[in-house]
Amino acid sequence: MSTIKRVAILGSTGSIGTQALDVIQQHSDKFEVEVLTAFNNKDLLIKQALAFQPNVVVIGNENHYLEVKEALSKHPIKVYAGDKALASVVEMETIDIVLTALVGYAGLIPTIKAIEAGKPIALANKETLVVAGDLITKLAKKKAVNIYPVDSEHSAIFQCLVGEFHNPIEKIILTASGGPFRGRDREYLKNVTKEQALKHPNWDMGAKITIDSASLMNKGLEVIEAKWLFGLDASQIEVIVHPQSIVHSLVQFEDGSIKGQLGLPDMRIPIQFALSYPERVKSNFERFNFMDYPNLQFEKPDRQTFKNLDLAFTALVRGGNAACSLNAANEIAVAAFLQDKVKFLEMSDLIEQSMEKISFIKEPSLDDLIATDKETRIISEELISRK
Ligand code: NAD
Ligand code: MG
Repeated sequence: MSTIKRVAILGSTGSIGTQALDVIQQHSDKFEVEVLTAFNNKDLLIKQALAFQPNVVVIGNENHYLEVKEALSKHPIKVYAGDKALASVVEMETIDIVLTALVGYAGLIPTIKAIEAGKPIALANKETLVVAGDLITKLAKKKAVNIYPVDSEHSAIFQCLVGEFHNPIEKIILTASGGPFRGRDREYLKNVTKEQALKHPNWDMGAKITIDSASLMNKGLEVIEAKWLFGLDASQIEVIVHPQSIVHSLVQFEDGSIKGQLGLPDMRIPIQFALSYPERVKSNFERFNFMDYPNLQFEKPDRQTFKNLDLAFTALVRGGNAACSLNAANEIAVAAFLQDKVKFLEMSDLIEQSMEKISFIKEPSLDDLIATDKETRIISEELISRK
């Protein structure tokens, strides 16, 4: 049997996707690309396909299909387009692991299909666990499929748990950089621009997660993601601000001992670990030096200024379809902020108001979640257009 893992990358043209390809290129003896997918960025998708020669590529936006097909016509690469193709390619027998590096709710159905087909998941797409954590984790258990976290905080926790899976977690401590607006008050935040919000101090990421980091919604989504990945209650999840992003997160065990995982902020480490687990693969990434960081800081998050963290905890405690509507309203709010249709602080109000209007379903089916997502988006759009 070949020891090479064949990887399907959903969202290969994004920040996580391109870094995953960097990892794969550096370890071509361990990984090969089976599937590449992107939504709009056809030029980069074509370039990647020519370089990595996958079996299949999928372009989400069907308008680009002919161009991608034509560009790859001299190669043995199948080209498909659209959402349905994205949801069915993950079932291919030749795939060993699916990296979900696409952004937002669009990850939900492909992730479900991949788990149903028995594929291990390297999960970057946190929104899927926010929307349907209960359903996804139950399905993964039923299918005996492992979900390996890619998000740096969750990878840190996972790395702390290796060798400890039988030991109960007392609590986890999720670290947050605080984003570009750490220490600012509501008066300052009233008129901040998208350009300011898009300047993250430590990480270079896609636009949506960068805005989420500035508004602390990213940490809120990560709290919910952690609940599902590690089977925790809200009371077991603590968030602390750590501006240098060196301590990626920590686990406290029942004897009071705390384990953390540290390193320079480089997503290629968690991406690589999710693909190579249980092995660690030798890398040439820059090493961390304590003497460069003599003053690591830790602070309490400012929950009065950044309301999204509490909104996420509320959704987590409420359960049911609450986090699904939180996610949908947030996706609409971020898109509107990026189009200058709402202001920075208005995003939290929009999310809170949208969530209040959605009827609560305690044990939602997949169809209920799809309907909740749709309804919330309509409500949020309506609230924006009434402004
Ligand atoms: P990105 O915007 O850079 O890339 C997103 C990718 O998804 C692109 O390849 C795009 O073509 C594809 N895509 C977008 N919309 C799609 C749709 N509707 N259907 C199919 N494909 C679509 O985003 P990113 O920063 O790489 O983040 C990807 C995911 O990983 C997000 O869920 C994010 O929260 C998570 N994540 C990212 C980082 C990071 O450092 N970038 C860290 C932790 C977690
Ligand atoms: Mg993270």
